[in-house]
Amino acid sequence: MPRKASAKISRRSFLAASAAFAARPAVAATSQPAPAAVDVIIVGAGAAGIAAARRIAAAGRRYVLVEASDHVGGRCVTDTKTFGVPFDRGAHWIYAPDLNPLTKLTPRRGIEVYPAPPSQKIRIGRRFAREGELEDFLSAEVRATRAINDAARKADVPCEQVVPNDLGDWRATVEFMLGPFGCGKDLAQFSALDFSRGAERTTATFCRQGFGALLAALADGVTVQLSTPVKSIDTRRSLTVETAKGTLTARAVIVTVSTNIIAAGRIQFLPELPHRNIDAFGRLSLGSYDHVALELVGNPLGLDSDDLVFEKSTDAHTAAMLANVSGTPLCLVDVAGSFGRDLSAHGEAAMVDFAAQWLAGLYGAEIKKAIGRTQATRWNADAFTLGAASAAVPGAQLARRIMMEPVNDAIWFAGEAAHETLWGTVGGAWESGERAADAVLRRMGVLKTPAPEAEAAPKPKVKSARPVPREQSSFGATPSIMRPER
Ligand SMILES: Cc1cc2nc3c(=O)[nH]c(=O)nc-3n(C[C@H](O)[C@H](O)[C@H](O)COP(=O)(O)OP(=O)(O)OC[C@H]3O[C@@H](n4cnc5c(N)ncnc54)[C@H](O)[C@@H]3O)c2cc1C
Repeated sequence: MPRKASAKISRRSFLAASAAFAARPAVAATSQPAPAAVDVIIVGAGAAGIAAARRIAAAGRRYVLVEASDHVGGRCVTDTKTFGVPFDRGAHWIYAPDLNPLTKLTPRRGIEVYPAPPSQKIRIGRRFAREGELEDFLSAEVRATRAINDAARKADVPCEQVVPNDLGDWRATVEFMLGPFGCGKDLAQFSALDFSRGAERTTATFCRQGFGALLAALADGVTVQLSTPVKSIDTRRSLTVETAKGTLTARAVIVTVSTNIIAAGRIQFLPELPHRNIDAFGRLSLGSYDHVALELVGNPLGLDSDDLVFEKSTDAHTAAMLANVSGTPLCLVDVAGSFGRDLSAHGEAAMVDFAAQWLAGLYGAEIKKAIGRTQATRWNADAFTLGAASAAVPGAQLARRIMMEPVNDAIWFAGEAAHETLWGTVGGAWESGERAADAVLRRMGVLKTPAPEAEAAPKPKVKSARPVPREQSSFGATPSIMRPER
């Protein structure tokens, strides 16, 4: 039964709070030169790198955290300059707040977190879907999800292969929600086992100042060497890491860059990484997911704060919109999967054109005149990321475990891809950073606790997979309950 959304968002402290944050988050980055010899070098100051640095520091060990770009946060960064209100260029949804490590750590001062509305809407042309139509959609979505989960118990096939053939005219919408919107990849390129093991992401909170601002607040006190890309990691004699600003030595290195950065050879490893590791990075390639941010002053769409809107689509040329983000005029039209990848390759103007055209199809051509400032992210072209978030290709879920194995007893990999259930999320990246730091501390004899099961060497063959039952996984909380026409 569809349920009506009841969450109303307080705007009380929004204006005061948002004014307190700058475009690039206030960072405790230092301009001090990095000490040449430390215990641990951490590569990349996204969620995983920040978490690892905090853990190493808490254990009283010396670290250097080196970051290629000029800011912390990586794929979780808030820009407040472009629109004068917080614009999360990457992650925005704080999934599973009761379990998410970041919610537990959220500082109280200057950061306000509130529940995301529990339901979403579907547009059918120029009107909203009616209750019966939503029920049809939900039934199609549940059947597709169940079919993928059932298939994953037997073999790691492409999700698309097992989606029922009789979803009728809801097929394209269901495929968009579970594939491109859910993980940045089309279902044909996405592992049923990865889908199935992905942790439940149906509940979420938002941060009024931006998820990136929240993460930056957690980096407070962490020393970061910004604009310092790592060029090579050499473990042939002692461990040395060559950066654009000099060479560092340490006992261990934690590498948190994206899988596409490693697969593209942007960091040289001496000796080369074992073949099975290189293969794992390649098979955990990043999907494509971008926000086309539009300013729509005066709420011309007549939507509520943080309303999530899909369309009943007939093909893959579609999008999802998060409207009036935290009560501001900012609306995010999200494009993803192979359609989003092709569109972003045509540049920002083409992306904005598509978003305007898409909105015009749903709300009338007049809406185009209401669009003010615009900006589109292009994560595939971001030199320090090369994509959005990892999604295993069919047959590759086990690669996530391979990523967690240390190499030459000196290199540990972390980041969102190195998490078996929370892959593709900031919370997963954070936990993997903590786990890698613990493994390094254990190796140094600082931590005495036994390694968790996930850190043990993976078994070469998995005979029968027993996926955790789940409804869906997503960047943008795939709907389980929809809001009917008002
Ligand atoms: C558009 C978009 C929407 C998303 N939505 C959500 C969401 O709503 N909720 C959610 O939980 N997740 C979401 N995600 C995923 C989430 O952002 C990521 O899973 C998470 O931020 C990854 O953190 P990480 O630390 O693993 O990697 P990163 O954040 O990529 O950090 C790695 C760091 O390494 C740096 N680096 C790269 N190369 C080098 C080098 N050679 N030397 C030194 N440093 C280097 C990079 O600059 C980067 O800062 C989204 C992602 C995108 C792109």
